Amino acid sequence: AREVQLKSRPVGWPTHDDFDLVETASVPLEEGQVRVRNEVMSVDPYMRGRMSDAKSYAEPYALGEAMQGGAVGVVTESRSDAVAVGDHVLHGLGWREEAVVDGSAVRVVDTAVAPASAYLGVLGMTGLTAYAGLTRVAGLKEGDVVFVSGAAGAVGSVVGQVAKALGASRVIGSAGSDEKVRHLLDDLGFDAAFNYKEGRVSDLLREAAPDGIDVYFDNVGGDHLEAAIGSLRQGGRIAICGAISVYNNTEAAPGPRNLARLIQTRGTITGFLVGDHWDLSGEYAERAAGWIADGSLASRETFVDGIDHAVDAFLGVLRGENVGKMLVRL
Ligand code: NDP
Repeated sequence: AREVQLKSRPVGWPTHDDFDLVETASVPLEEGQVRVRNEVMSVDPYMRGRMSDAKSYAEPYALGEAMQGGAVGVVTESRSDAVAVGDHVLHGLGWREEAVVDGSAVRVVDTAVAPASAYLGVLGMTGLTAYAGLTRVAGLKEGDVVFVSGAAGAVGSVVGQVAKALGASRVIGSAGSDEKVRHLLDDLGFDAAFNYKEGRVSDLLREAAPDGIDVYFDNVGGDHLEAAIGSLRQGGRIAICGAISVYNNTEAAPGPRNLARLIQTRGTITGFLVGDHWDLSGEYAERAAGWIADGSLASRETFVDGIDHAVDAFLGVLRGENVGKMLVRL
């Protein structure tokens, strides 16, 4: 089986030279372990951070070893009482075709309820990120005007739709192409959307939300954050989920120049990590199933095929080649 190893730590934009595709020998299982043939794996923006050795919330990937990340696969051999051969399991050893994992570190998922890929997206980590960020961090209230960046991506597309389902009066999204903007308006029920590459974000946002915004769910940072502060109403809340516009920067980007607006608006900016909100998983799973069933939560996925194209898929997320969750089918 093959795996993708980190060969060197990228400086700026990662390139194919930073990774190695390596054939590995199969090892015998130890007591308690299971062997999983991965069927689908996740590529996520946060992985860019783990490729660096700067101190952060997640351990850096080790050089010369397979990287890690969410994956779902089928158990082909088991020495764990909790997991049977044939079970589909969600676990953290992606970036490889075959994983040997402790039975206590996998979660059995039901592929009759939803396809394996959904457990990495709308019903998985990115879906919960959207829900926790909106409800708990931004304190979404009925009638709020909500703005989300990265709106056509995995987290952002759920943010917009869940905000509507929870009673937001108006949802505005930004994305990087006209096709994505059309998708937000035509398929996902956004009230307004703009292509941030077509002008100054602050102008585009003011046009889309002339009366201002109550909540900004930030996936990208940079100009978007400054624009959102500029449009914030009294008591507005900003949830900082990600800052993808700066992940490949080699020098710190300038901060928002208008922070003083938070004084007059009593606005707040709060960063969060989904890992602190796993307690909402059950609540979210139940509500998401209802929203999917009644059509208020649609999810798109973009698939890339083969472990030999996993690095392309990862670079694709950073470049915006995905609509909805980016995944690799193995
Ligand atoms: P997405 O599916 O949204 O993919 C990333 C998207 O970012 C791309 O599709 C691209 O879309 C957009 N993008 C890339 N560069 C820029 C740029 N310079 N300016 C604006 N948009 C850009 O990824 P996820 O949904 O998985 O993640 C979204 C964000 O949430 C990321 O910042 C991620 O790090 C963060 N995150 C945080 C978590 C937490 O616990 N705090 C958990 C999970 C994710 P486009 O074509 O529109 O540019």
